[in-house]
Amino acid sequence: RAKAVAPGRFVHYDPGMSEEVEARRRLEVEIRRSLEDGDFLLHYQPVVDVRTGRVVGVEALVRWQHPERGLLSPQAFIPLAEQSGLIGPLGDVVLRAACAEAAGWPGDLKVAVNVSAAQFGNPGLFDDIAGALAAAGLPPQRLEIEITETVLLENEERNVAVLRALASLGVGVALDDFGTGYASLAYLATFPFSKLKIDRRFTGDILAKRECAAIVCSAAALGLSLGLTVVAEGVETAAQLEVLRLTGVTQAQGFLFGAPMPAEAIAGRIGSEVFAGGRAMAAAEA
Ligand code: C2E
Ligand code: MG
Ligand code: MG
Ligand code: MG
Repeated sequence: RAKAVAPGRFVHYDPGMSEEVEARRRLEVEIRRSLEDGDFLLHYQPVVDVRTGRVVGVEALVRWQHPERGLLSPQAFIPLAEQSGLIGPLGDVVLRAACAEAAGWPGDLKVAVNVSAAQFGNPGLFDDIAGALAAAGLPPQRLEIEITETVLLENEERNVAVLRALASLGVGVALDDFGTGYASLAYLATFPFSKLKIDRRFTGDILAKRECAAIVCSAAALGLSLGLTVVAEGVETAAQLEVLRLTGVTQAQGFLFGAPMPAEAIAGRIGSEVFAGGRAMAAAEA
């Protein structure tokens, strides 16, 4: 706890707390510096068509090449970036890098970018996305943004307007981590989704828990009947993939097909088209 003794001056009574505050402040300074130095980069995870085994898209996942601590995952810095407002500039770096890199890849491969609820607080979000597409010369149809239910719960009217504008531009809108939030299903009729991503906690236990299998089946049926592409996240084994095929999901993503990898590595995979999943399915069909 801190007690104000004069405007702008605080006396700290809890040394633990002050250390935490100090660590957060330091991290914020480091994020700012790394934004200037270009220390943020993207890894890409393949998204596979369940029927053909072909890579039809990639998801961009941000990493921080920290000058002292090495490569950091999003959970180490995204929450603080969201709280401090730095998610705005960071999100813009991510969008521009994803669009620029995807513009160099063959065919109609889609790139998905995660956009958090905090980024919707920026009234310039639509212009930032349109600007990133234009700067890279990437057709809007090749970009997809991934949002979570948090975006639907806050500022519903304004956020739905932004999403509708993006959808009319041709940008895909995916609902990420489906089944883990608190929103009602009513939003499926309100927001212009093109894709539903079933959270990996259900995929992961699809063989072990009949409840999870039931949830994946129902979510897939719901999504498909709404005309959406349905993706299963976190597919790690061929056995999970086989069961998933029976649920009707359209696409799959997970360590079975590849962990998130640097841009150079994913570019090579795009050319090869078929992954282990495709071969496993071909074998199962034979
Ligand atoms: P997400 O969008 O749901 O991304 C999926 C996460 O699951 C990724 O973690 C990915 O590495 C991991 N994953 C993929 N396949 C498997 C699997 O088969 N098994 C397991 N156990 N995990 C798998 P990552 O890269 O650490 O990202 C975590 C979260 O951070 C993302 O969840 C997303 O919400 C957020 N995030 C990542 N990049 C960005 C970004 O550029 N902007 C924003 N706002 N958020 C981001
Ligand atoms: Mg995502
Ligand atoms: Mg997810
Ligand atoms: Mg997630």
